Amino acid sequence: MEFTHTIDGRGESSEASFDVINPATATVLARCPDASRAQLDAAVAAARRAFSGWSALSFEERRDYLHRFGRQFKEHLEEFIPLLVREQGKPLAAARAELSYTPLQMEKLCSLEIRNEVLRDNSQGRVELRYRPLGVVGIITPWNVPISIAIGRIAQALYTGNTAIQKPSPYTPLTTLKMGEITRDVLPPGVLNIIAGGDDLGPWMTAHPGIDKISFTGSVTTGKKVLASAAANLKRVTLELGGNDAAIVLDDVDPAKVARDIFWAAFANCGQICLAIKRLYVHDSIYEPFCQELANLAKSVKVGDGLDPEVQMGPLQNKMQYEKVLGFLEDTKRQPVRILAGGHALDRPGYFIAPTIVADIKEGTRLVDEEPFGPILPVIRYTDVEDAIRRANDTRYGLGGSVWTSNIDRGAAIAGRLEAGTTWVNQHSLPDPHVPFGGAKESGLGREYSVLGLKSYMEAQVVNIPASPSR
Ligand code: NAD
Repeated sequence: MEFTHTIDGRGESSEASFDVINPATATVLARCPDASRAQLDAAVAAARRAFSGWSALSFEERRDYLHRFGRQFKEHLEEFIPLLVREQGKPLAAARAELSYTPLQMEKLCSLEIRNEVLRDNSQGRVELRYRPLGVVGIITPWNVPISIAIGRIAQALYTGNTAIQKPSPYTPLTTLKMGEITRDVLPPGVLNIIAGGDDLGPWMTAHPGIDKISFTGSVTTGKKVLASAAANLKRVTLELGGNDAAIVLDDVDPAKVARDIFWAAFANCGQICLAIKRLYVHDSIYEPFCQELANLAKSVKVGDGLDPEVQMGPLQNKMQYEKVLGFLEDTKRQPVRILAGGHALDRPGYFIAPTIVADIKEGTRLVDEEPFGPILPVIRYTDVEDAIRRANDTRYGLGGSVWTSNIDRGAAIAGRLEAGTTWVNQHSLPDPHVPFGGAKESGLGREYSVLGLKSYMEAQVVNIPASPSR
């Protein structure tokens, strides 16, 4: 299969290319074109040319275009699903869920309305607050949920009147490039450019003077580099970064009832979700039965190549991430902990690690203090809920958090005290396009989604209009 960039509405290959690896087999899946600096410049020039026409359309007209994009996407769903499984590693059902969600996600975002506001209207005149698109948006995305994250940002950027350049992760560029192909018949040339590349392309984008905003989703370390680079021409920046979400299980829950939901909130996508539960605080009175439930679930999961319809958990997405998670595991094994399930790599090709439950672990270990981004969950014992809240908040991360209880009011009160952008009671789930999403502390800057998110793709402009012509 051939993969090309989409630049100014046309397919383009590059002189250079790189391998994309199937993580379930550790073999080469395809070659991906590696965009040159000149190709980025061409994409930026095309996006700037397209901006005047696209930004002049009404929200309704842009919504119609994006709905057509969504319908086109639906038509190609069945060919995208196995490609996403092969490049990302997730099971078929998860790939289907991610891809099927795309048109709906687009529809939801495009159903939101940005209204101009009248701030004052009296005998002296009228003051209006209007919103203008920013120009060209650079969208940089990670490898864990490549299509859903890209579509969320593309829809927001385009619907608000901007044009865009999207760069997928070099680990998972293929489905995104295919998505670019199907937009060529739908969107005016230059409105959406999709280019893939190696380690240089992201920094070129963040430093590019022709790009007005960067929407970045990825790690905290890279996010800080993006912010520093974007400062050169004061690009607007939204950063959606890593997390180390805590879940606190109160003493009033029945472990048999909630363990399954918590397990999958930690292990879906092989633990490679920004909003996965990564630290689990369980009350001493139910600690042992809870750990046992989790261990039984971990042992029952079918791990393997996502193309097998029976498989529930795939591999780590890439070798670097696999080795990083093995490093966490080695460090954990040196601590005085109990490993109740897993704790080892699978003896087969590919980047597989058995789902791992670690009990009797505490803060001060890498597994609790850092974000492993893999199938390994530390279960931490507590006796006093005030102490659990303090420990849950004692981190530089602040993406999500949850409280699990049979008393909703008690749960809501504690959820409000967790220092995170999103908190839940009895769930720990994924973003909704109608609800603002983003991180507190070092988990991000700004918000995606909802009217709040859409406005971050726009510049607020105050227009002062006198009541009568005074001159
Ligand atoms: P990463 O930071 O390594 O890479 C993310 C993207 O940035 C990739 O496209 C990469 O090519 C690009 N990039 C790398 N260096 C760059 C630079 N100097 N300048 C500009 N771009 C650069 O992250 P990753 O390993 O792909 O993804 C995993 C991380 O992403 C985890 O920490 C996870 O929690 C986080 N994440 C956050 C969210 C969220 O919404 N908050 C969602 C998904 C993933």
